[in-house]
Amino acid sequence: MRLTVIGCSGSFPGPDSPASAYLVAVPDPADEQKVWRILLDVGNGSLGVLQRHIDPLSLDAIFLTHLHPDHCLDLCGLYVMHRYQPGGRTARRLPVYGPAGTARRIERAYGGDVHRLERAYDFLRLRDGEPVSVGPVTVTPYLMNHPVETYGFRVTSGDAVLAYTGDTDTCDNLTPLLRGADLALVECAFVDGRDAERGIHLSGSRAAAAAVAAGGVRRLMLTHLPSWNDPEVCRAQAAAEWPGEVELAAPEGTYDF
Ligand SMILES: [Zn+2]
Ligand SMILES: [Zn+2]
Repeated sequence: MRLTVIGCSGSFPGPDSPASAYLVAVPDPADEQKVWRILLDVGNGSLGVLQRHIDPLSLDAIFLTHLHPDHCLDLCGLYVMHRYQPGGRTARRLPVYGPAGTARRIERAYGGDVHRLERAYDFLRLRDGEPVSVGPVTVTPYLMNHPVETYGFRVTSGDAVLAYTGDTDTCDNLTPLLRGADLALVECAFVDGRDAERGIHLSGSRAAAAAVAAGGVRRLMLTHLPSWNDPEVCRAQAAAEWPGEVELAAPEGTYDF
């Protein structure tokens, strides 16, 4: 499994990164020509960087953690590519898995009507704990703790496990989401001692505590830091709870496991 960080800026695009988007690529075990490509979130700004790595029309599926704009808005631009790129593919609809109301939300953002967007997208509903298969990849959504319906994704293929929290505060479902992950991409929008509100985001200490509690996490990588956070403060706050190295997601970083 290869993870490419397309965008990791928290809550809005930053000077060095778009908002959330993570590309997962897995070779087909039976066909050496085929690579399965799944995008986790399509936050604002991500469609531009995505084109540096793949033809966006080659995606096999998109999974949306939730419908805040920093996780879904570039579906509007991707729709334009699907529908209007000369010679572009229009026959096959791209599966888009998301929370309730995804089609309506994107339709309102685009300003068209839902039936227009459904020419390009097959909108499918995520449900807590119900796995979805895309070729050799399985994505299991877990309901998280955020002000809107939000899922974390446990992405598995063979022995490889990627866990991505989306946006969340501490919750019981972080344990089955993160347990034994080769790479745990854990959001860290809040700073301990600065952000007191609960039920929205993790801080460094809470991100690390969740990974410790889950057990067996090999790599802890903080992500979704807004540009107003000092990354080294977040890293240090997590490192106080985490026994190993605390990594920070790097824009356009690639990770194989
Ligand atoms: Zn967010
Ligand atoms: Zn959010």
